[in-house]
Amino acid sequence: MTTVVDLRSDTVTKPTPAMRAAMAEADVGDDVYGEDPTVNALEAEVADLLGHEAGLFVPSGSLGNQLGIRLLVAPGRELVCDSLAHVARAELGAAAVFSGITFRTWRATRGVLDVGAITELIAPNAGPYLVSTAAIAVENTHNFGGGTVQPVQRVRAVIELARSHGLGLHLDGARLWNAHVASGLSLRELAAGFDTASVCLSKGLGAPVGSVLVSTAQRIADARVWRKRYGAGMRQSGILAAAGRYALTHHVQRLAEDHTRARRLASALGADPATVDTNMVVLDAAEASTVVAEAREQDVLVSALGPRFLRLVTHLDVDDDAIDRAIDVLAPLV
Ligand SMILES: *Cc1c(COP(=O)(O)O)cnc(C)c1O
Repeated sequence: MTTVVDLRSDTVTKPTPAMRAAMAEADVGDDVYGEDPTVNALEAEVADLLGHEAGLFVPSGSLGNQLGIRLLVAPGRELVCDSLAHVARAELGAAAVFSGITFRTWRATRGVLDVGAITELIAPNAGPYLVSTAAIAVENTHNFGGGTVQPVQRVRAVIELARSHGLGLHLDGARLWNAHVASGLSLRELAAGFDTASVCLSKGLGAPVGSVLVSTAQRIADARVWRKRYGAGMRQSGILAAAGRYALTHHVQRLAEDHTRARRLASALGADPATVDTNMVVLDAAEASTVVAEAREQDVLVSALGPRFLRLVTHLDVDDDAIDRAIDVLAPLV
């Protein structure tokens, strides 16, 4: 039996035996009462790592983002982000449905922040004629941009811009861990200057479930109310938080291996390795869906994110042999 090489996403990882053991042994309590010691420890640990006052454990990155942006943007106001941002493109209109938030977007190459475009786009205090901008969202690394690490000078410029116009700033840091390992900047540096930040434990870190939203103690207290209101108050969720804590200790530095493998995949398949910042490879294929189907017949799974856009993602469950297999199968197809 050949095992399947699954490069569709880094969300497909399964908890390792050691992670499962940590979950089984977790000390738990009722987290809606604030009594789950493992959840409390995870929230404090992530808040500290990111240099924010407090954290909130949530079931998904989408909920982390949605709670974060609703704290910063009142109904009838707008959030500004790039047109491929996860919050705009992949959260199914949640900000509109739940929070009455509208969006305007700039077009970004590979997801990289365009400070000039943002400056032109924002409309703070627009009065009774136009929608007023309330906040800017930054995604780091950028998913649909191909795992792009945001250039630090541009992030600083956007923070300056937001400050000078009194705008809120949300960081969608689903893969901030990858940005940290790739850039050498600390998580604290990467999350500094943002009012709210959300990070995923269920992507490259390999935990089965969960994200953490960080911000000030006051905002997190508000987010806790909204989390319950949305029906996402969990009880003995320490069993899940334990997987996250295990991942923070054991699975952050190893992301460098995923990055190395992604670069190897890119060179072998004729993509420009300079476009591979982290664990994703984007390939331009004449017919992406045909490549997906033909690779699947040979037990290699990749994603088509557009008619010509293939995405390959390396992760914990893809080793060097799996990369060799993927190259053998994909090279003749792309
Ligand atoms: C995966 C992801 C999220 C959140 O996803 P969930 O599937 O809701 O956990 C948010 N932002 C980005 C950039 C992502 O890649």
